[in-house]
Amino acid sequence: MVVKNEGSFDEKLLNLLLENSLEGVMLVDRHGIVCRVNQAFVTMTSLGQDSIESKSVVRMLKTGNINDFFDPIREGLWQDGFWQGDIQQTLVNDRIIKGFLKVSAVLPKSGPVRYYLCQLAEHGHLELVRAGGQAITARDNLTKLATLPVFTDRLLQAVANAHRQEQSVGVMILDLDRFHQVNDSLGTKLGDELLCLIAGRLTNCLRDSDSVARIGADEFGMLLSDIDEGPGAVRNSGFVAQKVYEALAQPVELGGKSIEVTAAVGITLFPQDGRNPEELLNNAKTALSHARQGSRNNYQFFSHKMADVARRRFALESSLREAVEGGQLHLYYQPQIDLKTGKIIGAEALLRWIHPEQGVISPVEFIPVAEETGLILPIGDWVIRTACRQVAIWRDMNLPPVRVGVNLSAVQFQRQDIEKVVKESLAETGIDPGYLDLEITESAIMDDVKKAVLILNRIGDMGVKLSIDDFGTGYSSLSQLRHFPFKTLKIDRSFVNAIANDEGDKAIVNAIIAMAHSLNQTVIVEGVETVAQLEIMQNLNCNEMQGYLFSAPVKVDKFTELLKNGVELKHVVEKASDPKTTKGR
Ligand code: C2E
Ligand code: CA
Ligand code: CA
Repeated sequence: MVVKNEGSFDEKLLNLLLENSLEGVMLVDRHGIVCRVNQAFVTMTSLGQDSIESKSVVRMLKTGNINDFFDPIREGLWQDGFWQGDIQQTLVNDRIIKGFLKVSAVLPKSGPVRYYLCQLAEHGHLELVRAGGQAITARDNLTKLATLPVFTDRLLQAVANAHRQEQSVGVMILDLDRFHQVNDSLGTKLGDELLCLIAGRLTNCLRDSDSVARIGADEFGMLLSDIDEGPGAVRNSGFVAQKVYEALAQPVELGGKSIEVTAAVGITLFPQDGRNPEELLNNAKTALSHARQGSRNNYQFFSHKMADVARRRFALESSLREAVEGGQLHLYYQPQIDLKTGKIIGAEALLRWIHPEQGVISPVEFIPVAEETGLILPIGDWVIRTACRQVAIWRDMNLPPVRVGVNLSAVQFQRQDIEKVVKESLAETGIDPGYLDLEITESAIMDDVKKAVLILNRIGDMGVKLSIDDFGTGYSSLSQLRHFPFKTLKIDRSFVNAIANDEGDKAIVNAIIAMAHSLNQTVIVEGVETVAQLEIMQNLNCNEMQGYLFSAPVKVDKFTELLKNGVELKHVVEKASDPKTTKGR
């Protein structure tokens, strides 16, 4: 081993120390430059060795909280030559690391301190057991399964063997669905019992040469060795995944209740997908997150296409942060028309990201990323405020009043004080609250109905309009929704597509409209593209429409023009029906 900075160190001793340690170990010089990390550290952080060594420790962390983190450590080292404590930090790769960190000055025989030794044990991962003072083994104290460092080590060996014998290795990561709900509703003791039970079932599914480990709170790793290379590897590991599902499918008796356990599994294979433990574990995680998006009890093999998607998502995430700060997000407005008068009575505000190089990026692509990263909170906040300001601007221009529809994400509901943002935006602009229309999907409120009813009632009491968005795509019924103060129901676009040819869909839409009317709700249909669709919706007594037939979402200036010119539905329909203008459509 070479210690790259500040002279030499007893190489043999250090190597022995590092290789035998199941904790993540990092050696830092007095300038804060990382001299060396061990494999356990690399695995825990998922940062490549090259991106850590010879660089400043600071570069491992996401900026923002750097001093808060380092100041107490510096203080401890200065005073006692030692610091220890629980840490939770976001790394540059966005991995959140939680664990117990010990930092100690390496005291030289003489002269100043040159090195600091950092030891990191990840929470829930490590229990060090000294067996008769000999080798250190690492077992999860609850399930008695191996932990991540041991699993990684076994993976390394399996890969080396497979390479020699031209065989394959399969790596599976299994993540239990909604495990936190078990903990919340039945208590952690039964939650622990469940984990032990699952650990046993997984162990029984595998051969002796395979290995199971607990690598996260409710995550298990499985290592399948000695599988034949080539297409057989896919078949074999798929077969094991199937066996795992069958084992999980047996109901579990917990605290007198029978519960059903489901899980998602990501699978990756050596050598086709990755060459080292780090790559394989990352691939399995990528596959796992794809499996999670599917139905419950789903397994996914890793594919390189997934990695491309993941890379694009990662790139999207960092440039989205810049977009928010750099004013690249804009609101477009799509007119909403009263079907009785044919006049514009509202607009739906729709986000557009105008990227300096890539051009317009659709919200369908970036909203999910914004939701995952929490960026939706500042974005959502900005959308509400901007929409309210726009209403005030049109009011001050003496244009016919329009209400503006704003889409709310489920994440905003769970994690933001929506009520406060709405209240402030209304106060700031002095607009009539009835001109703000919040569009909410069923799925956003069904997670925690009680809380949603409370919040929405309070917002409704302010006079703000509330609409159910994308109605017909969720599973809830109107009777469930009647507890909510919704004034408007938006029929999802998918019905409109089919309605001209499908009597069944027409009957459903007819029934939805009748029920909404019986609850005194206004019905708006979105996605109307043709005159034929428009006429059907008119015949079904729908109240309002929105769609490309009238106008796509447009920039604010264009929308202001439409208002100024008093453009009405009849003008648009005449134009669409005119053979001269419809030629070639
Ligand atoms: P959404 O709420 O269902 O919005 C309606 C979508 O339908 C918009 O897509 C709109 O451009 C599109 N659309 C309208 N009329 C037609 C039509 O006649 N034909 C077709 N094919 N499409 C039509 P857009 O602008 O791409 O937005 C997609 C989704 O992104 C929205 O679906 C909404 O869920 C989300 N979104 C947009 N802006 C925001 C926002 O500010 N916050 C949040 N949380 N979500 C937003
Ligand atoms: Ca909407
Ligand atoms: Ca929709």
